[in-house]
Amino acid sequence: MRVLLVGGGGREHALALGLAADPAVSAVVAAPGNPGIAGVADVRAVDATDPGAVAALAVETAADLVVIGPEAPLVAGVADAVRAKGIAVFGPSAEAARLEGSKAFAKDVMTAANVPTARAYVCADEASTARALDEFGAPYVVKDDGLAAGKGVVVTDDRSAALAHAAECGRVVVEEFLDGPEVSLFVVTDGEAALPLLPAQDFKRIGDGDTGPNTGGMGAYAPLPWAPPGLVDEVMRDVVHPTLAELRRRGAPFAGLLYVGLAMTAAGPRVIEFNARFGDPETQVVLALLETPLGGLLHAAATGTLAEHPPLRWRDGAAVTVVLAAQGYPAAPRTGDVITGADREGIIHAGTARRAGDGALVSAGGRVLCGTATGADLAAARNAAYALVDAVELAGSQHRTDIAAAAVEGRITIPGRGASQ
Ligand code: AMP
Repeated sequence: MRVLLVGGGGREHALALGLAADPAVSAVVAAPGNPGIAGVADVRAVDATDPGAVAALAVETAADLVVIGPEAPLVAGVADAVRAKGIAVFGPSAEAARLEGSKAFAKDVMTAANVPTARAYVCADEASTARALDEFGAPYVVKDDGLAAGKGVVVTDDRSAALAHAAECGRVVVEEFLDGPEVSLFVVTDGEAALPLLPAQDFKRIGDGDTGPNTGGMGAYAPLPWAPPGLVDEVMRDVVHPTLAELRRRGAPFAGLLYVGLAMTAAGPRVIEFNARFGDPETQVVLALLETPLGGLLHAAATGTLAEHPPLRWRDGAAVTVVLAAQGYPAAPRTGDVITGADREGIIHAGTARRAGDGALVSAGGRVLCGTATGADLAAARNAAYALVDAVELAGSQHRTDIAAAAVEGRITIPGRGASQ
């Protein structure tokens, strides 16, 4: 099987490693890829968000399967353009990807499918925003209705900051605050059959102790020692299958990766958001633990044969990833700094590039790379991931020091359930 992988971040480096390790995969081409992906794939400088260019590359490279990593190509219709060429693609249509691309659409689908989520209002002017804020009270949650790479959400106790964010965005979703630890559940689906991957947790804020602005994600770990037994079955029954059925009913079946972001509240799991693709950096830890060959799994989802796929197999132990970000991230990341110590196994490249002229590895984005490690338990995986990141040198770089710490120390509690473990 020949695979074309679309994207060039840390998630795609993890996907490239998984695909290249599948004995059924004979070649991986990546567009545009990155210097880490170039170690396992043939990288091509093609714009990932250009449907025509990606479809042409899929034909040119005789791809049997196209795997789309990021959200932007999905929303741009890249999956539709590839499917129109008769090539199997792992990634939903632009219509189904609205589950991520429009918060208002996602709320509408959840309401129709009776999926447990935060109560919410779609607001387009100051008066209705103010009414919604006052109905729910603080902390206030205001979400940009459009795609904002996880950064369009403001959660604040400051009512005027909430109003100011709404004014900046135009159309927003104002919703009730969901109190409880978060879970990311990835589900591989062909639109009807669905296989859940291991639940993971990511760290959205830039600073230790969940302080500072939201980012694309600063670290992750899996599995979750504190997750209640039966959680995955409950979410498949109450969230995933009803959502997939509602999308089929609307004539927009969802084939690809359904990412369910949940808050574990006192009232039970509640959906915070859907994404239409693998999460970054949770993918790095989930795939590090997946024993089942990745290419065959994604191909089954892309060809509507997931119901016949054998059950997934997982490695024992745990995985942790720690993101190293550029100085100034997330507001204004500095790029072009030389990186050393990044040639170890477990270093996943995100925003890196080769400098013209001398070919030195330099930073080229906000999240530069991550250290991903497995271990016999969460504590061992955490130590190994930090050892990887600590060995990298990048001027002005920043990383959180508390990834997976609360889980290792048994400090995560679900409201109303008392201490876990
Ligand atoms: P989203 O882009 O919808 O995932 O939101 C980004 C982050 O904002 C989430 O991971 C949560 O940490 C936080 N968030 C979003 N919605 C809520 C909510 N209703 N209650 C509490 N936190 C939220």
